[in-house]
Amino acid sequence: MGFSQIVSQIVSALWHLKSPWFKGVVGEFNVNLSAKFLLDKEKYHLIKNVTLPTEDGSTQIDHIIVSEFGVFVVETKNMKGWIFGSPNQKTWTQKIYKHSNKFQNPLHQNYKHVKTLESLLGLNEQQVHSVIVFVGDSTFKTEMPENVTYGGGYARYIKSKKTPVLSESQVIEIVKQIEQGRLTSSFKTNREHVRHVKNIVAEKENSNVPSCPKCGSAMVLREAKKGQNVGKKFWGCTKFPQCRGIINGT
Ligand SMILES: [Zn+2]
Repeated sequence: MGFSQIVSQIVSALWHLKSPWFKGVVGEFNVNLSAKFLLDKEKYHLIKNVTLPTEDGSTQIDHIIVSEFGVFVVETKNMKGWIFGSPNQKTWTQKIYKHSNKFQNPLHQNYKHVKTLESLLGLNEQQVHSVIVFVGDSTFKTEMPENVTYGGGYARYIKSKKTPVLSESQVIEIVKQIEQGRLTSSFKTNREHVRHVKNIVAEKENSNVPSCPKCGSAMVLREAKKGQNVGKKFWGCTKFPQCRGIINGT
């Protein structure tokens, strides 16, 4: 066995020894710290560890940040090494030395959280944003959408959203609903929410609907109304006009 193989085996052994609990603690510590320092608490309400109901039980969201610029659903990934991925891949790859590890595309993972929140709060695509934060010592080796960030970079992304999409009273109401755990009871008593979210998520997973190269949201087929491409079909981001991501051709 060569030296590099030994190193790679030691690294991977160490990596696997670290429990999810340990990874979670480190991840949350970093993100909370950033939230404290980088966002104005008067404008951005941080809610931690939100339990979100799903059709088969519940799921945990690390952080939800509510502001008049929208509801930001933050998914943290505590990972080291090199990260390879794109919005349309089902799985992304983490590489530490020669050891590679596949993990679910976090944009897809968070898509379900975003859709569930939209449904429960009665909000639209313009009002709920997905944000992925890698904490730990990782490096993106492929180009990432702007909402996939490192450490404090998530605050920069959130601050880049400058168009108000919620009123002050809506913000207060949303924070109340989430904090008082009313989402779970509303979900349980409303089978329609469950079916609704299940359908949208399944639709995206089973169809050839691409994810936006800029933000990872679902895309819709549109037709150019003017310009030299008039009449031509293209994929546009469902967050248009906030996001202008497009994919040409079909
Ligand atoms: Zn987009």
